[in-house]
Order: sequence, then structure tokens, then C-alpha cells
Amino acid sequence: MRTLVRYGYVPFMLLAVNGAGVAIAAAGASKLWLVGLVFLAIAVSFAAERVLPYRQEWNAARGDDRRDAVHAAVNESLTIASLAVVPVLTAITPFDGIWPGEWPFVVQVLAAILVADLGITLVHLASHKIPALWRLHAVHHSVKRAYGFNGLMKHPLHQTLETAVGFTPLILLGMPTSVAYAVALCAVVQLLLQHSNVDYRVGPLRLVLALNQAHRFHHLKWAGVGDVNFGLFTLLWDHLLGTYSYDPKRQFTSDDLGMAAKPNYPDAYLAQLAEPFRSSGACTSDDAKAPTEPAAPTSH
Ligand SMILES: [Zn+2]
Repeated sequence: MRTLVRYGYVPFMLLAVNGAGVAIAAAGASKLWLVGLVFLAIAVSFAAERVLPYRQEWNAARGDDRRDAVHAAVNESLTIASLAVVPVLTAITPFDGIWPGEWPFVVQVLAAILVADLGITLVHLASHKIPALWRLHAVHHSVKRAYGFNGLMKHPLHQTLETAVGFTPLILLGMPTSVAYAVALCAVVQLLLQHSNVDYRVGPLRLVLALNQAHRFHHLKWAGVGDVNFGLFTLLWDHLLGTYSYDPKRQFTSDDLGMAAKPNYPDAYLAQLAEPFRSSGACTSDDAKAPTEPAAPTSH
């Protein structure tokens, strides 16, 4: 069973779950099927983490499970609301007709993912460099354990910003709503895989896909050290931007994660929503410094 999870979990999520989502979106079937797939993906994520955890202790809630459920419910509701706006926006785009609607549906989805990935990667990178954006993004970096569900844990304003930048070029090009639905499902699956506490293997694909092995480096708590591997779907843009980082020997514990400069970041949901707008939510002057060794827990 552990071997099945080690090598089968990611293909199941990327090919079976995403594949089913693409087929449902292409067929124009009820969108409730996509909501069902999101619940299935979350359930499989939790189950796989029980069978083959990367760190057993990361499966244990630290008073964060209900909060993360609220984050997920709010953020996914926001996603559904955003999708409802897509047909309105595409109807008024001046460039309607450019979208390659004659391509096979799955190719349209893959192309949209690559374009969205660039926008989301750039917003993510900017969120680590620009203090006002870091305030919003810090909510996501406050986690001390990596597990699938906390991929959906982020400030709703930051999610809105990522979505807006990632999807605007696609909407301007006239992306059909059905493609947007498929991409949205793929994003949820990707967030679950990227933060997963499953010790899975994907071979050399770890160089290309933005999965948990590379993403753990992004959650290292020291300023500058965690400014790597920004991609959501792929690491292609990180390779081009020079922000790719990976060390196969590196092992992670809770002591490595979070924010060294903000060890007491609020845990409660509403307090996390408010924190970016409080003085304590600002970057410290040390945040700009990037220590060369992660042994200097003074910033970020
Ligand atoms: Zn980040």
C-alpha cells in the first residue's frame, strides 16, 4: 500500500482527478461534479498522508485544523465567485476571438495553466519582495507543518490578487469559462500536492513540476533562504528567473518552517485576516536581509 501511494498518489491526482475534471468541464456537465472532485481530492490527500507521511508529527493538528478548514471554505467559495465573473469579463474583452478554441480541450487547459502559472509565479515572487504584499502573503507562511490542506490556507485578498494576475491575460484572450473551471480544479489539486505531507516520488519530474519536494524549500523560515521555487504548477519560470533551488539530502522538520522573525504570528482565523493591517503585520527591518546560512534565525 505504501509503495502504491509513493508512486501512484501523484499520477492519480494529476491524471485521474484532473483528467476527470477536464472531461467534465469539456462536456459542459454540472459544475457540482467539479465540487465533488475537490472533496474527493481533499479526502485522498488526507488518506495518503496517513499511509505514507513525510513526517508523522505533521499529521497531528496543532489547533490549526478547524482554522484551515475555514480558510479552505472561504477561499474556495471565493474561487467559485470569481469563476462566475469570467463569462461577464470575457464577453467584454476587446481581443475576443484570439483564443485557440479549435485546439483539443485538454491542450487549451494545459496552455492556460502555463500562462496562469507565469502570472501567479510573478505575484508570488513580488509578494516576497514588496513589504505591502508580504503582509498579506505572510499568513500562508505562518504554518509550522506542511500538509495538503494548508495549501488552501492563505489570506483571501492575496488569493484574489494571485487569481486576478494569473487569469487576466487569459480572460483578455477570450478563454472560455469551461477552460477556467478546469484550471481552477487543477489549481486546488496542485495546492494539495504542493504542500502534501506524503513522502511520494515523481522521479525527474520533480525538476519540472512544482511539487512538495521543491516547495518545502520555499517554506524555510529564514528571509531570503525561502525566496525560491515560487511556481504553483511548474518550476519552469523559476528555472528561467534563477530562483530554483533543490538539495536531495535536505530533510525538513517543523523547526525549519514558518517565519523566523514572526514566531508568534496569530493562529486564529480572524486574527490572521486582520494581521496584515496591524503594525505587527509589517516586515521588520531585518526582513530585507538574506542570510547566507539558514543558521541565522534573525529575520523574515
Ligand atoms: Zn511564498
